[in-house]
Amino acid sequence: MARLELNDLRKTFGRGEDSVEAVSDLSLSVSDGELLVLVGPSGCGKSTTLNCIAGLDSVTDGTIRIGGDPVNERRPEERDIAMVFQNYALYPHMTAAENLEFGLKMTTGLTAAERRERVESTAELLDIDRLLDQKPKSLSGGQKQRVALGRAIIRDPSVFLMDEPLSNLDASLRSTMRTEIQQLQEDLDVTTVYVTHDQTEAMTMADRIAVMRGGTLQQVGEPLECYYRPQNRFVAEFIGEPAMNMVQVTRRGDRFVADGFEYPVPKRADHLSSGNSFTLGIRPGAIDVVEPQTGAATGTVGVVEPLGETSHAHVDIADTTLTITTDGPGTVERGDVVGVDFPPQRVHVFDVDTGVAVA
Ligand code: ATP
Repeated sequence: MARLELNDLRKTFGRGEDSVEAVSDLSLSVSDGELLVLVGPSGCGKSTTLNCIAGLDSVTDGTIRIGGDPVNERRPEERDIAMVFQNYALYPHMTAAENLEFGLKMTTGLTAAERRERVESTAELLDIDRLLDQKPKSLSGGQKQRVALGRAIIRDPSVFLMDEPLSNLDASLRSTMRTEIQQLQEDLDVTTVYVTHDQTEAMTMADRIAVMRGGTLQQVGEPLECYYRPQNRFVAEFIGEPAMNMVQVTRRGDRFVADGFEYPVPKRADHLSSGNSFTLGIRPGAIDVVEPQTGAATGTVGVVEPLGETSHAHVDIADTTLTITTDGPGTVERGDVVGVDFPPQRVHVFDVDTGVAVA
């Protein structure tokens, strides 16, 4: 177990005009045994960050510490880290058992019998003991990923790094493996950085989420903290499904107004100047359907997407469309004219230009 710290980490690829700053001044710490999920859209610098921690990419600037020790100058195999990749990275000519054992041969001075014992106990833990004699090509995607996880676990490293390990699996297997990895990580109590672009994976698995965009850290916090108190518009729209609704409004006296929309300024937004424009954010699940002309706005229901227990309905209001989550099927139907309203504590207010949350 070990604490992992990144201080002002910067990684630039290339030189001069063609250079790309993949990671900018990233400072982050992951506690002993914590599962931190790095999440963000494609190209935001997640994998580069992970590769720098692993030592697969050199660092342009900044310090990486594991258990308090700077590791920038250490080779990957000297960092006591195990990494799991999206494409499994198993040796095709080796059986599952040999793949598991390989990591042990490289790093420890165990006897053959001790290695065999570790392979067996790891295989049992991951429920792949029946597959030990098979080569990767005869394993399913899920089985391969279990072997890859086993190869990481067997070395008993200080830090696990996982780069989109579930991306190649189908939806139902992904959801099962998500729970299993989370359970495994909790049982093994190993400091873990898990990279994904999937916000659901981040929300469901993480002790804390670190949201990245364009190489910079946007917010670090527990999943529900990022969901309920996003620090900026980017985090607000990235976390949560369907995405948070955004409405451009102007404050006029004690109201936020837009075409077809009027809402009392919540108390905590009272410091915002009248006459200025803002972006209001409202989660689809926070919106109630009310009688027309009684709520914040009245609109016409467009597409309704039934999901069983809930539906997502799109309500057109002047030049805005709000997505709302309703109970079950039949609560609203296409063409219905409905009012929409929401409690003041569920309204987020963002600066129009910077996107920073201002109330
Ligand atoms: P994805 O989810 O698509 O893997 P990511 O968030 O992991 O994306 P990175 O792979 O870290 O993003 O890439 C960050 C930026 O750095 C991108 O603009 C990418 O093109 C650039 N980049 C990454 N590796 C290299 C490299 N070896 N040489 C040049 N540019 C690179």
